[in-house]
Amino acid sequence: MSTIFEKIISGEIPADIVHQDELCLVIRDIDPQAPCHLLVIPKKVIPRIGNAVENDQSILGHLLLIAAKVAESENLSSGYRIVINNGSDGGETVPHLHVHVLGGRQMKWPPG
Ligand code: 5GP
Repeated sequence: MSTIFEKIISGEIPADIVHQDELCLVIRDIDPQAPCHLLVIPKKVIPRIGNAVENDQSILGHLLLIAAKVAESENLSSGYRIVINNGSDGGETVPHLHVHVLGGRQMKWPPG
């Protein structure tokens, strides 16, 4: 069964798309946890970071570089946070790898 992110990637379900290239899609989160909350999603289905393989190295690097690039284009010059939730204890709700980019407010530590 395909996840909501696969349906967004295929265009079956609409999303606010901030960036798209051959390897990934960046959308605005439907339930933002900060003034700016983006999701960087690989087009390749990798359920979670714990399932990534050696061959995914360039995709994983690309996701982080794009996360930094969109943070810059969203004017998050005073800082932002990048989060990857892995598995149920990690808070993962969609089993398709995605990188959260959160900014526009002061982040706290430790995270909840
Ligand atoms: P996770 O909890 O798996 O790390 O993150 C999943 C994220 O996807 C959540 O922040 C949630 O708000 C977001 N999300 C879930 N469904 C949709 C959707 O249909 N559209 C968009 N844009 N975001 C979604």
